[in-house]
Amino acid sequence: MPAVAILSDIHGNAHALDAVLADVAARGITEWWCLGDIVGYGAFPRDTLATCLGGATRLLAGNHDLGAAGRVPITDFSDDAATAITWTADALGDDGLAALERLMPMDVDADVALYHASPRDPVWEYILTPRQAEHALVQSEAPLTFVGHTHMPAVWQLTGADGLRPWPVDAGPVALDRGRWLVNPGSVGQPRDHDARASWAVHDPDAATVEVVRTPYDVQAAQHAIRRAGLPPGLADRLALGR
Ligand code: ZN
Repeated sequence: MPAVAILSDIHGNAHALDAVLADVAARGITEWWCLGDIVGYGAFPRDTLATCLGGATRLLAGNHDLGAAGRVPITDFSDDAATAITWTADALGDDGLAALERLMPMDVDADVALYHASPRDPVWEYILTPRQAEHALVQSEAPLTFVGHTHMPAVWQLTGADGLRPWPVDAGPVALDRGRWLVNPGSVGQPRDHDARASWAVHDPDAATVEVVRTPYDVQAAQHAIRRAGLPPGLADRLALGR
């Protein structure tokens, strides 16, 4: 099976998505998956939704997608997020919302399980600590599980002998040799690890590796579009800071 790119948390940032997909293609990778939060925060939800519907071979809904579609209450979101979701639902129109209506926050197969947030709570749970990662790995049957939602790239390994081990995300491909693995590719459209570049991952099943990749994009153009759309200015400011 050829390598696949895993993208998550695009959040209506078409500048970041287009740059990542150009990078994906330049690496000769032809298949990509998306772990959800296609929309919300950014100024181009129609574009990012259309790109995901047209290109991703496995596609999840995240909490922001479900919020825009009215499938989770808007009162569950922070003020800026709720403002952006209301704006996004308006921008998507009936056809966009109908497309979001059909997506689920998880897609589990025998080899690679995908959840927007976590196996226990595919919509909302943030996996940030080793304890949370270990719990998620115990709950997932698949040898390899991808989650998004935190906007923080992470690679965790769980073995019977050594317990949970975090791996560096900036040191090239990691060999998936023993035990079970949990990988967060980070966020394409709103990274929060103090690195403004778009974050995503490559899984090569033949080589049995996973790698977190960073792709620079035109942050200023994405910020300008957010301000011009009248979205909360903090949503533009944070893109340059990567948080
Ligand atoms: Zn998100």
